[in-house]
Amino acid sequence: MSDGQCLFCKIVDGTIPAEVVHETESLIAFRDIGPQAPTHVLVIPRKHVASLDDARPEDRELLGELMLAAGAVARAQGIAESGFRTVVNTGVDGGQTVHHLHVHVLGGRPMHWPPG
Ligand code: 5GP
Ligand code: ZN
Repeated sequence: MSDGQCLFCKIVDGTIPAEVVHETESLIAFRDIGPQAPTHVLVIPRKHVASLDDARPEDRELLGELMLAAGAVARAQGIAESGFRTVVNTGVDGGQTVHHLHVHVLGGRPMHWPPG
């Protein structure tokens, strides 16, 4: 199921180009257009799920695949050994700007805590 107005659904269907670094039957990973670290990749399900708040028990396997893919992307990008940050922003206070579930994978520099 895709949402015709959704930016990331357009990346999934190829209407909007992206630098894809990893893909499977159920998800794709591509470089963020505004990188916040030397490596900044977004991992998204091909299926339109608006946010973590919209994920349901039937999405259990997909959510697991997203997290496993985040680790696989980090290893493939060479940032796993030094460490990396995974982020899922949800809703207004979470800072979510694109309403299609995505996992940020950031690395290549030290990350700080607490986040801003
Ligand atoms: P959010 O703020 O929703 O957690 O993250 C959305 C991310 O999508 C941002 O980091 C932003 O830079 C990225 N982004 C927005 N539009 C595009 C686009 O057209 N292409 C790519 N590759 N990334 C985008
Ligand atoms: Zn979408």
